[in-house]
Amino acid sequence: MIVILNPDMGEDSPEFKKTWEYLTQLPGVRLQKHQVQGQQKQVTEVYLFGDTIRLNRETIEALPAVERAIRVSEEYRILGRHRDEHRAIGFNYQGLQFDQDNLHIFAGLCAVDEKKHVEIMMSALKDHGLNCTRMGAYKPRTNPYSFQGHGKNCLPYVFELAGKYGIKVIAMEVTHESHIDEIDECLKAAGNPTGVMLQVGTRNTQNFELLKAIGRQQKYPVLFKRGFGITLSESLNAAEYLASEGNAHVVFCLRGMKTSFSAPHRNMVDFTHIAPIKRLTRMPVCIDPSHSVGSREVAPDGILDVFHATAQGVISGANMVLVDFHPKPEAALVDGPQALLLDELPVFLKDVEIARTAYEQRRQLLQGAQAKV
Ligand code: PEP
Ligand code: MN
Repeated sequence: MIVILNPDMGEDSPEFKKTWEYLTQLPGVRLQKHQVQGQQKQVTEVYLFGDTIRLNRETIEALPAVERAIRVSEEYRILGRHRDEHRAIGFNYQGLQFDQDNLHIFAGLCAVDEKKHVEIMMSALKDHGLNCTRMGAYKPRTNPYSFQGHGKNCLPYVFELAGKYGIKVIAMEVTHESHIDEIDECLKAAGNPTGVMLQVGTRNTQNFELLKAIGRQQKYPVLFKRGFGITLSESLNAAEYLASEGNAHVVFCLRGMKTSFSAPHRNMVDFTHIAPIKRLTRMPVCIDPSHSVGSREVAPDGILDVFHATAQGVISGANMVLVDFHPKPEAALVDGPQALLLDELPVFLKDVEIARTAYEQRRQLLQGAQAKV
């Protein structure tokens, strides 16, 4: 059962205390509290696990801090929508709101290689008004002899430069729980000049112990990548592991599916799944056109396949774009062939803007049409 408290209910209020006291006394019931930061209000949701069958919904709803209670028997208990249109969606991190209505661009290096590339990249982002990026320090590689990332050695300069160029959030993959502590220590040592969104890569989508470890901390939100060879439902269930451990600040990322039918692309672009993910869950949805397409091929219309894929996701309401750029792709140690060039950044952003405006127009058109039916 999910118990939704009245908006902006402070934990010091007598209503909250009375309600919490009642709930904690329920026999065989375990509680978990989550904050949901919608665009207008902050809501506390309390999840009741265990022996909840015998609980009376009306009794719970009569508690002073409670707005309503919902019984859930479906999948994705915490992250799911459960056909309740009134549930708040989203979270705030580093002063930025992440929900199913807005859009953030995370352009940056697939992998940190040289300090100067990090600086050129971040400086270009600042020049174009961007305050988020991607910077891979821990790289899961197919071949054990390939470059695995600089790990914690690069974190001090990555964080320092992020502060210098006004970067608020860095998406950074972690492949082991010890990486969270390394990030934490380096951020602290640098004076917390920026924030990190912990990325779970497609190779770790079902690494349940890693997910539990990431879920146990609530300091960093999570960018969770869809598994490249499992069903959507299996990936959504895996994301729920994070929430079940206590961290529901999760962005779900589509990055293409591994199939031989995807050729000539690296993966089969799956961005039409933005709609079902938003219908089934409350997670903002990210697209990764770089790892989907995997090359810098250009269509006869003069538009790169990566641009086409990006536009397809954004026109369908994507909330975040994770995209590889590199100041010198030929020198990149990971995924150079799919990286966009810094000269392409302004036109990429303009193209995203066109697609986003089209999405907003489509939304208005169809909501208006539905209201008339
Ligand atoms: C990445 O974003 O750098 C990456 C390795 O992606 P994925 O896990 O989707 O392959
Ligand atoms: Mn990559």
